[in-house]
Amino acid sequence: MIIIIPLAAESFGVRSSSFFIETADVKVLIDPGVSLAASRSGLAPHPLEIREMNERWRLVKDYAARADILIITHYHFDHFDPTEPIVFNNKVLLIKHPSEAINASQHGRARELIRNYRTLPRRVEFADDRFFEFGGTCLRFSPAVPHGPDTTVGWVVEASIREGSSCFLYSSDIVGACRDEHMQFILSEEPDTLYLDGPLTYMLGQGFSLDDLRRSIGNINRLLDMPKLRTLILDHHLLRDRNWKDEIREVYAKAEAVGKKVVTMAGFLGREEALLEAWRGQLFEEHRDQEQEPLMRSSTFQLVKELKKERC
Ligand SMILES: [Zn+2]
Ligand SMILES: [Zn+2]
Repeated sequence: MIIIIPLAAESFGVRSSSFFIETADVKVLIDPGVSLAASRSGLAPHPLEIREMNERWRLVKDYAARADILIITHYHFDHFDPTEPIVFNNKVLLIKHPSEAINASQHGRARELIRNYRTLPRRVEFADDRFFEFGGTCLRFSPAVPHGPDTTVGWVVEASIREGSSCFLYSSDIVGACRDEHMQFILSEEPDTLYLDGPLTYMLGQGFSLDDLRRSIGNINRLLDMPKLRTLILDHHLLRDRNWKDEIREVYAKAEAVGKKVVTMAGFLGREEALLEAWRGQLFEEHRDQEQEPLMRSSTFQLVKELKKERC
């Protein structure tokens, strides 16, 4: 049996899509990074967001300490954090290739990660289009696929974890599977639980078109037809939109028709969604007297500033 534990995501109030996965053979942490939007509606992060980021990062670090394997699907700062290398200590690192199918900014970060922390992990493997067996558990990776509708923001690898007849698949940032090449790996792996970052509806018209959204919803509905799929977890980009549920109402209708479950990462744990970023303006209205949370990660604002330059 595969145990799936969502650790951090937009549905918990931070930018991330980190999971801890446990099988009989291995413990795997996927994408150990937590971040915040540098600016939404012209506003910097609210103190409640900073508090949540610090708590979620603590949780990710706790689970990282228990993990045998860390996966890094690409080099955006909501998916890995180069400021606390202790996380990589004595782990097997399965990472997106640092120099092939990669854009300039991610290439620089990957190069630094490897140069600075080469001696910390027990083993480092470039994972693109490969598989790794650990006892009865197989970790398989897709070839590099575009980070969204095109490669402006770079490439990612998708990852599946299979044990016996169970398979969990992690899409990474494919922005709602809006291209056919995002679909190939998912369709061939036939997961029973699929995590998919949803479409980028909060940036419609800015690198993500209405056609992309139509394609994304059509593809997600196609994935719901996979016979083995039982649960679809949607989060990340989609949950930056306060109207996220309405944007994908066709997906909910389809899921109901075919008897599949659709949840967010928070919903997977039975929790209500807490969309702090999408509601940032209201947070500042309603919590004007909120004390500033001490920044435990002093470098975070520097990282957040860099995020201004690109989608993640
Ligand atoms: Zn991301
Ligand atoms: Zn990304």
